[in-house]
Amino acid sequence: MSTPMPRPIEALIHTPSLAHNLERARQAAPDARIWAVVKANAYGHGIERAFDGLRAADGFALLDLAEAQRLRALDWRGPILLLEGVFEPRDLELCSRLNLWHTVHCDAQIDWLAHHKTHSPHRVFLKLNSGMNRLGFRPDAWRAAWARLNALPQVDEISLMTHFADADLPDGTRAPLALFDRHARGLSGERSLPNSAALLREGHGSLGFAQGSVAGADWVRAGILLYGSSPDHPAHDIRHWGLRPTMTLRTRLIGTQDLQPGDRVGYGSTFTAPQPMRIGIAACGYADGYPRHAGTGTPVLVDGHRTRTVGRVSMDMLAVDLSALPSERAGSAGLGSEVTLWGEGPGGSILPIDDVAQAAGTIGYELMCALAQRVPVQTVS
Ligand SMILES: *Cc1c(COP(=O)(O)O)cnc(C)c1O
Repeated sequence: MSTPMPRPIEALIHTPSLAHNLERARQAAPDARIWAVVKANAYGHGIERAFDGLRAADGFALLDLAEAQRLRALDWRGPILLLEGVFEPRDLELCSRLNLWHTVHCDAQIDWLAHHKTHSPHRVFLKLNSGMNRLGFRPDAWRAAWARLNALPQVDEISLMTHFADADLPDGTRAPLALFDRHARGLSGERSLPNSAALLREGHGSLGFAQGSVAGADWVRAGILLYGSSPDHPAHDIRHWGLRPTMTLRTRLIGTQDLQPGDRVGYGSTFTAPQPMRIGIAACGYADGYPRHAGTGTPVLVDGHRTRTVGRVSMDMLAVDLSALPSERAGSAGLGSEVTLWGEGPGGSILPIDDVAQAAGTIGYELMCALAQRVPVQTVS
């Protein structure tokens, strides 16, 4: 017996586009080293699949120890940084064994290090809470933490880091950066501050913002920009930043319907045809990771042409408006037509994931991380 054909849905991971976006990060911070942030399974792309496109990075940053092991299994011998540090004392053994650098953000993590038996001292990134109030030492406790670490034989080099809450907003890094500079004065160690938003907005060839966080950074932490989503959408889109989509989600039309005025579409009958129109039914739903909150009007490509969804997204299907296609296309679109939910469509067409995210009231990060297990993934090199 032959294996059954799967549903027509699939995701593509574009290796050359990952490499292109990494190169964009380099242009923005030519003098810094780049952490490729690959947490959450490389933002839903798959660490093993993304690795080829990102191997020119100087290091990989993530927070799950099992993901760090997977990177070492790919034979990555370079730096790996645990962005949240260790979660319990025995994690330090894995850090010693796999040579993982780790963030230190609280006193308990220093206590654990002080009791850790190791032959090779650890490289740590000491984190300042610069106002986000997620992880990190408060400014008045940060220097004392540095001194404690500096006295430990278990610690080799100490680097200094903080994370910006508002780097996607005008002037968003000014106050935390000033705080960081004030409290880091006189402390030795490499600096790691910018995320994607700070890197693009304040880096080399940027909009001309402060440039402080990037100019002073030894290590930048590039996440979302690598995956072809703009960190400050909708202020700027990926075209503005010269980024390319790295994930495509595509499927085909498995049905069509000709609607009369007053006909409704989908669960809850939330869409009513105002005039005669044709819709297509695409084999993609929320069980594939497509956002259920994307209402009527969410952009979608049919055969590379932009149109909109209509009605509610169901588990396995969604409806697209074929009458809204350019007139010469509307007639030919039908069963089997290619539907691009986000990413690269046929004929060089592009639907940025950010456009879909915005229509669903979320961000590109969430959509790419939520790609469902049941969607087959292919790597395009
Ligand atoms: C996720 C993360 C980053 C990367 O953020 P992007 O907005 O995706 O660039 C950088 N630093 C830390 C501490 C993070 O958790």
